[in-house]
Amino acid sequence: MKKILFALLATVVVMSIQAQPIHRFTVKIGIDRTSVDSLGGEERVVYLIKDMFRQVNKAFNYDSRFAAIHHFEVDWDAFYIYDGLSTEEIGKPHPDHDYLVVMDGYKSDAKEQGGGWYGDTFQTVYHARTHNDRFNSPFEQQAIDGIIHEFGHARGIPDIYAMKVDADKNPICGMPYLGTRCIMDYPYGERHWSDYAVNMINLAAGRNIDIDDLVSKAVPENITIKARWADGTKAEKAAVRLYPVMWYSYTVQPKAVYTTSTDAEGVVTFPTEKVFSREKEFGVKYSNCLVEVELEGKKSYAWIPLWYLQNSWFEGKQSCEVEITLKRDIKLTRDI
Ligand SMILES: [Zn+2]
Repeated sequence: MKKILFALLATVVVMSIQAQPIHRFTVKIGIDRTSVDSLGGEERVVYLIKDMFRQVNKAFNYDSRFAAIHHFEVDWDAFYIYDGLSTEEIGKPHPDHDYLVVMDGYKSDAKEQGGGWYGDTFQTVYHARTHNDRFNSPFEQQAIDGIIHEFGHARGIPDIYAMKVDADKNPICGMPYLGTRCIMDYPYGERHWSDYAVNMINLAAGRNIDIDDLVSKAVPENITIKARWADGTKAEKAAVRLYPVMWYSYTVQPKAVYTTSTDAEGVVTFPTEKVFSREKEFGVKYSNCLVEVELEGKKSYAWIPLWYLQNSWFEGKQSCEVEITLKRDIKLTRDI
């Protein structure tokens, strides 16, 4: 009996492994000659890139929440070493490959600015990290953490750190928004994908996508604010104000983008579009929003970062719900 059970179990395990689809993405890599020379030659660089992609692929596969196996496959026949400007390589089309990775470990020209993910028609990672000593190169651990983050962008996830707010840039209540643990928030030494990141990766599946398209596709229709007093009574006819946060600004805008009030039940539902309007560049105009509820001179606050808003859509909800509690004696703030 035990043997039969074990055989059955083994079959179930094998079946569930086979059920995982495999998403393959081809990668073309170009690296500048100065970097190859300073890193010890082509053979050494190829070895380092292979090790780097072992780590990239591991990051996209270790987690059981992924709906598929993701495989970024370097095409070694297309691998090339270039002499010109890295910034010129970034714009080169790569119709036979999903992604281009331009590696520059020795920014030798002032024109060689920037780095990171280039979406839209580029679909390119510009992996730039100066190789000035043995602790700093495109293959050093932090640089590999960085490229994993860039491939997160390649699979449709925006920067979670772009949703943060500095306390001194919040003129409404002086509260910071600290983000959430994720490779897409802070990649260095971090191997954790937030649920939001996993949801986005699963939504992108095996398609070639852009962050803005994926974001605007996965937004719930409405936002619902539920306000109550700390003793549980409904905060009837409370003023509700929504202050937006622009991407990468870390700042709460001083003017509300939308103002409304709760009903007799202490609840208000409004279209998400009133705050997070659609926009080409990022998918939605704002990365976060501070909600202020005011009644009888008392105020309370909550955040609606984009990742939280979108997670409601992933949970199949029509409306993203935010609960806010008002306190009669002291101010009570509630983070989400
Ligand atoms: Zn980023």
